[in-house]
Amino acid sequence: MLDYQPSPHLLDGRVILVTGASKGIGREAALQYAKHGATLILLGRNVPALESLYDEIEAAGCPQPAIIPLDMLGATDQHYRDMAATIENQFGHLDGALMNAGDLGVLGPFEQIEDKCWDRVMKINVDATFHMTRALLPLLKASEDGRLIFTSSGVGKKGRAYWGAYAVSKFATEGMMQVLADENSKGPLRVNCINPGGTRTAMRAQAFPGEDPMTLKTPADLMPLYLYLMGPDSKNVNGQSIDAQPK
Ligand code: NAP
Repeated sequence: MLDYQPSPHLLDGRVILVTGASKGIGREAALQYAKHGATLILLGRNVPALESLYDEIEAAGCPQPAIIPLDMLGATDQHYRDMAATIENQFGHLDGALMNAGDLGVLGPFEQIEDKCWDRVMKINVDATFHMTRALLPLLKASEDGRLIFTSSGVGKKGRAYWGAYAVSKFATEGMMQVLADENSKGPLRVNCINPGGTRTAMRAQAFPGEDPMTLKTPADLMPLYLYLMGPDSKNVNGQSIDAQPK
């Protein structure tokens, strides 16, 4: 799966939502999904960045995407219900969702975690992802070959000093994935997690400001796994948390 070679038409006819599509891993995944035939729904809070991706997708001759401008920090459950209804009305189906948007918070000793930081990280990484997933589930379950991918982290599998709220939120993400995978094991929906591993993005630079980013894999390097888990070839993979860069 890490050296997966997708067919150019892997995702033809599929409608796929990507959260945090404005930059980093989410942007690259959205672009690659579009280049493999999917109609993309680009969700994020930075509209100019989403518009620039929209233009790039159109210029590449891919199916026309859609933009959902949404700040997951302020969004309510009703936003997600309305969003699901709009997707159903406009596209008629949803075949995949990549829950990728995330907030790092502030790294530091546990007793120094501020309420504001804890609440923010939990709201974006856990609560918003829960509300969005719950609203989208009927559509994803109705798809003949639905895929739901959550984004984890190494610190969401083994706790690490000073990773505080972020690490706890990623443990919750792993739990959400496992519960959903088990509940849906008899249907066509497949639910898995990807742990990208250290990747050259803004979040990684925020976590490791002294690191030389050129020593890291790029989001593009991880895409075989992102394509594999979003496409038909992963129909027998469910409830897995897969490292994009195994040690
Ligand atoms: P990134 O480049 O910083 O991208 C994060 C994305 O999340 C951006 O699109 C950002 O939008 C979006 N986002 C953040 N807060 C949001 C909010 N309130 N509402 C809507 N969108 C919001 O980071 P990345 O490295 O690509 O991270 C992608 C995922 O991989 C995250 O879940 C992260 O935890 C995980 N991960 C990354 C690494 C790594 O080394 N890079 C390692 C392990 C796990 P804006 O453009 O508006 O900021």
